[in-house]
Amino acid sequence: ATPTALLVGTGRGAQLGILVKGPEVLESTRRVTTVVLDKTGTVTTGRMSVVEVVAAHGVDPARLLRLAGAVEAGSEHPIARAVAAHAAEAGPLPPVEGFRNTEGLGVTGLVDGEDVVVGRPRLLAGHGVAGIEALAGAKADAEERGHTVVAAAAGGRILGLIAVADTVKESSADAVRALRELGLRPVLLTGDNERVARAVAARVGITAEADVIAEVLPAEKVAAVRGLQEAGEVVAMVGDGVNDAPALAAADLGLSMGTGADAAIEAGDLTLVRGDLRLAADAIRLSRRTLRTIR
Ligand code: ADP
Ligand code: MG
Repeated sequence: ATPTALLVGTGRGAQLGILVKGPEVLESTRRVTTVVLDKTGTVTTGRMSVVEVVAAHGVDPARLLRLAGAVEAGSEHPIARAVAAHAAEAGPLPPVEGFRNTEGLGVTGLVDGEDVVVGRPRLLAGHGVAGIEALAGAKADAEERGHTVVAAAAGGRILGLIAVADTVKESSADAVRALRELGLRPVLLTGDNERVARAVAARVGITAEADVIAEVLPAEKVAAVRGLQEAGEVVAMVGDGVNDAPALAAADLGLSMGTGADAAIEAGDLTLVRGDLRLAADAIRLSRRTLRTIR
């Protein structure tokens, strides 16, 4: 009777939009205590748009956008797509030589003979760019609003900031509530800035200091999952990006968004077909019920 009940459970899951790799997954689902949520593309839609361009003193904002957009055109990152699309509205983008993407930090390339860097201030600092301090106030203001801010520089000089907005999915706050009702602890995990992470977390009802883990590089997402496991938690990780694949594999249970990257879907144990976070709570509820029927 056991395998039959498991199969009924997985069949019911499929009806709800939850695809399970195999019936054995239900067992690990039942033991979960903490649910780690990736921010971009999981809690938010991941469809970003440029909302603000802040040029540094004496810099033409059109030049800032043209150079940043040109280099970002080489990246598939949601931020890069937003910047490139916005820049392209003003006209064709110049060609880029020596394009390079640094995972979780940003991009670099040569445009019109100038070294252009776009991404986290950390990346710019690594390229010896100075003068970003003058823009700290504008950066903090945008971040308080939940906007992700990337900086751009050319020839070692700061060009300015570009703020992009993402939208929190309507279902995310309900999902967080449903997870808590199941006795689970939701944790937000992101490579994005601390202030942005807290602003987004607050919008879905995650407010505890320890429940927001920000500014982690893609490789550090695994360490964050392991840290929770070492603290005694049984960890489910929900993610959508190529970046999330190693953490999905490291978690006790990996849930991938059906709307996400193939690598994430392959790394997960379970796929939430519609990319709706409420399905994560449904999956855990269903597995508990199915296994209760068996026992
Ligand atoms: P998340 O964990 O939220 O999915 P990522 O790890 O993909 O985020 O990116 C973390 C941060 O690195 C971004 O918030 C952004 O500041 C910076 N970043 C990454 N790629 C790019 C890019 N192509 N252009 C600009 N900034 C980038
Ligand atoms: Mg993501």
